[in-house]
Amino acid sequence: MPAPPSRCPVCWAPVLWTITQAGKRLAVDATPNDEGNTAAYRDGTGTMRSRRPSAELPLLPYERLYMPHVATCGAGSAKPETTRCLGLIRLDDRRRDGR
Ligand SMILES: [Zn+2]
Repeated sequence: MPAPPSRCPVCWAPVLWTITQAGKRLAVDATPNDEGNTAAYRDGTGTMRSRRPSAELPLLPYERLYMPHVATCGAGSAKPETTRCLGLIRLDDRRRDGR
């Protein structure tokens, strides 16, 4: 079952919360965007996984391109609190054994 739509805590726009390859939360715009630089797909447990496509690993057939929400956030990406809310915080640290 898909997760309910999420909203940006700063500007209230619809976003998708993804987990990066580094295990960090990253908000992307809810609508796929070919101009984006983040590839994302939903894994078998319903979690959105995101990564940066590269020359070695370009976009895969089951991935879509998204724009990181911090780039389009209505509150402005220059605000430190915006980046803190939208991807640079590490909410998942508690689930990892101290690292
Ligand atoms: Zn926002």
